[in-house]
Amino acid sequence: MIFQNKNIAYSVRVSRRAKRMRIAIYCDSAVVVTLPLGFSADSAEEFIKSKFSWVTKTLERFKPYRHFAPYRSGRRDYKKFKNQAKQLALEKIEQWNKLYNFAFNKINIKNQKSRWGSCSKKGNLNFNYKIVDLPHRLVDYLVVHELCHLKEFNHNRSFWELVSQTMPDYKVLRSELRHVNNPIP
Ligand SMILES: [Zn+2]
Repeated sequence: MIFQNKNIAYSVRVSRRAKRMRIAIYCDSAVVVTLPLGFSADSAEEFIKSKFSWVTKTLERFKPYRHFAPYRSGRRDYKKFKNQAKQLALEKIEQWNKLYNFAFNKINIKNQKSRWGSCSKKGNLNFNYKIVDLPHRLVDYLVVHELCHLKEFNHNRSFWELVSQTMPDYKVLRSELRHVNNPIP
């Protein structure tokens, strides 16, 4: 979501036990809203807005501690984390595609050494299963990047303009993703 010129990436969890909405911010800058059963996704966004100064202050505080989790590898890890990666990709695509409304075909999770994601001419979006270890802001960037390839199939100016509609600081995120020591975007 974008609010007061800030781009806040968040994810939503639904909990049977939760009695009211709550927000948690983790040290990798992930913002997670927990909703009791029966609450709509829109209420999560409203809730973040109502706590906005706290959210932005906390995110600022975590900035120096951003870190990357150690990387996984091998077929066993792929099998183990594939579904989690798919769930994450689905959530993020749903969240960001609200703004773009692009039509896509399938979402695939792959075990690749050298790529974080790709978009095929058939409109399939592919993601590396290791996205489960990325800070959410980088997953957000990756998802927006691949979504925008549905419209622009190269890295020309209109492509980056499209990306910057939701990710004004995409250059920072792009170089951050490049410096994560395993797959190369
Ligand atoms: Zn690309």
